[in-house]
Amino acid sequence: MTGDSHADDLVVFAADGRDAEDTTDEALPGWKVLVVDDEPDVHVATRLALDDVEVNGRRLSFLNAHSAAEARDVLARHDDIAVVLLDVVMETDRAGLDLVHFMRRVLGRAETRIILRTGQPGLAPEIDAIRDCDINDYKSKGELTRTRLFSSVTVAIRSYDQIRAITASRRGLGQVVAATAALMARRDLPAFADEVLAQLSALLRVPDTGIVMACDGAEPPRPAVAIARGYPDILPGWTLDRLPASPGRDLIDQACTGRCNVRGAGGQAFFVPGQNGKMVVLLPPSTNNDVEQDLAEAFCANAGIAYDNVILYGRLRNLAFVDPLTGLPNRQGFVAVIDARIAAAPDREGRVALIDLNGFGEVNNVLGHDQGDELLRAVAARLGQGLPEGTTIARLGADTFGLLGDEAAMTPEAIHALFVEPLPLHGASRPMSVTVGLADIGQVSGDGRTLLRKTDVALRRAKQENARSMWYRSEDATELGVRLRLLDELRAALAAGDINVAYQPQIRLADGRIVGFEALARWRTADGRDIPPATFVPLAEQSGLIVELGRLVLRRALGDLARLRRTMGAELTMAVNMSMLEFQDSDTLGHIRQALEAAGLPGSALEVELTESLAAQDPAALAVRLKSFRDEGIQIAIDDFGTGFSSLGRLASLPLDRLKIDRSFLADVEHPSSQRTIVAVMVELAHAFGLDVVAEGVETPGQLDALARLGCSLAQGYHVGRPMPFDRLTEWLDRRSRVPAPAGLLGQPNLH
Ligand code: C2E
Ligand code: MG
Ligand code: MG
Repeated sequence: MTGDSHADDLVVFAADGRDAEDTTDEALPGWKVLVVDDEPDVHVATRLALDDVEVNGRRLSFLNAHSAAEARDVLARHDDIAVVLLDVVMETDRAGLDLVHFMRRVLGRAETRIILRTGQPGLAPEIDAIRDCDINDYKSKGELTRTRLFSSVTVAIRSYDQIRAITASRRGLGQVVAATAALMARRDLPAFADEVLAQLSALLRVPDTGIVMACDGAEPPRPAVAIARGYPDILPGWTLDRLPASPGRDLIDQACTGRCNVRGAGGQAFFVPGQNGKMVVLLPPSTNNDVEQDLAEAFCANAGIAYDNVILYGRLRNLAFVDPLTGLPNRQGFVAVIDARIAAAPDREGRVALIDLNGFGEVNNVLGHDQGDELLRAVAARLGQGLPEGTTIARLGADTFGLLGDEAAMTPEAIHALFVEPLPLHGASRPMSVTVGLADIGQVSGDGRTLLRKTDVALRRAKQENARSMWYRSEDATELGVRLRLLDELRAALAAGDINVAYQPQIRLADGRIVGFEALARWRTADGRDIPPATFVPLAEQSGLIVELGRLVLRRALGDLARLRRTMGAELTMAVNMSMLEFQDSDTLGHIRQALEAAGLPGSALEVELTESLAAQDPAALAVRLKSFRDEGIQIAIDDFGTGFSSLGRLASLPLDRLKIDRSFLADVEHPSSQRTIVAVMVELAHAFGLDVVAEGVETPGQLDALARLGCSLAQGYHVGRPMPFDRLTEWLDRRSRVPAPAGLLGQPNLH
């Protein structure tokens, strides 16, 4: 594959400013022949006999030793002696044979060929010695005529050359294997290209200055500089046409188009063939034998395979680090960018922010995934346009984005300001608010992953506590820390009676009349954060504070109901939510009695909402407990019905009054759908068991209408009225009483 045709007119570009050396006509060194003999005449005669011998284009160069001792010395200094012409008898009868042992065993010279000569035919060495010591030839001095000597030495030199070539290729193959292993360890292009250059130049024993051009399989192939070592004026990424016109560029071009190795007067270009990508390596010229050139070719073939791996790995890494929807770095990629920033900024300046899109799940459910995706891309674009250059934007999860930038620019206000304007969505616009968690690099000791985790703590706390943004605080180091802090605050709020109750009206569908209210606990912390029940109710349940919370809500709700009954009629009921812990607490019933008494209300004014989880209790004990409530006149409702796993049949055997169908069943109830069928069946079965049905979470007039048609008797939801604090509720009731009663069965109840 090596093309020498352009040999004489090519000179590479000057590497590192040095002029390229011209190595063409340099004479090859002669084959070293060592003559060991204690007779001076033999030296002269040998030299005369072999003076104009040439083997494989190389002359001979002679070394002389006149004793075995002197020969040891010469041998030790020259490790590339091709042939030793050795007198057997010198200082001693065996001096020559001892020298052979020394050469082979002590110096380890296995390649050098040996021709023994002796003046006394009777002193021929035993055959074993010849075999053991790998002696090439044995001649009596008399036999060594000029012609015989000539052929004997020529054969010996040829076999020396072959042995050398075999050893070299064996060593070289080992080198190729090791070099390929080194290549396989390189995963990124510059490091890989660097390794190719280093290994190839080592194999060819040339200086490791050169250029590696790579094309990664893109169509059309456009090889670009991967590295240029020793060429400070040539930059990575340059394509062939940007390289200065020069013989070196021509060499690369020829190797590329010809897909072969090209040698010229001033350099050599190697073609590295891969399935997915190709490389061309330009190196300084060398005078290598065929073995080395063959090895270089073998190496290039292996390098091609390794290069394919680099490309593949690059693509995988791209997949692993990039979010395909937005093209932004994903969580992995973001962590890598933070790590790089931490490493590059010892002052630890910089800030990480996490942005969560409020209510994105609903958009996705209601508008579908295509629009959800479009919205995410719109958010990415908005962030990209609004944030200063140099800020990293990443998409970390479904609706969570990450930012990394300067502290001065990335304030919560600046981030919220980006979402004041609605986002474009399918030609229309859609308002979008966000929740932000922030942490400064300087606040957290640790790597990108740690920093991200801590920012996440801040974000989750912001979400839990309904805040627009929150900073990471070291006391929140763990989620447990956040929960413990919140628990302390809740305990204090309960002790101070700082829990409020909101009331949500319930109407009878037949005539739109208000029949009662559900009491829902509300908590605003001392510093003004509204914590949603979904956060504090489970916390209270896990800590046992729920019993206290329930009592507080109950007392307040019954007190307020008594006031409402005075103005609105004695039939109104109050539903309170009761956790299983409270329900099972043996003191609960006593407290309920006290609260009813204090409010001057009968048991029938109260409805207790229990969840389906009660079905997990021992049925006999449960029936007894429920009966003790009902004996007081208290009504029992099953809340969030349909979300648990209890069967209606099993529940129906219990002493209950109502089922509250969970709002998740209402989404599609307006249209003929499986949901509508399920609701219809629930209502029918409930009625068959003598239970009332309340539909929870009614948000649209269509839902209300559909529920009425399905025979559902009661409804509650934003469309009827939102949960309201007591004073707002009384205003609302007041306004509503002045609106004329709606006409017909499905007349619109109040739209507040
Ligand atoms: P729940 O008993 O199922 O209460 C109904 C929840 O649905 C309330 O959420 C209410 O605000 C919400 N809601 C009402 N109408 C609509 C609507 O049309 N659309 C939508 N999307 N939501 C509507 P809230 O107030 O956040 O309470 C959540 C849960 O916390 C309650 O669910 C209840 O299980 C629990 N909870 C609230 N207060 C107490 C309490 O005093 N004690 C106990 N044990 N649990 C309580
Ligand atoms: Mg409830
Ligand atoms: Mg419910």
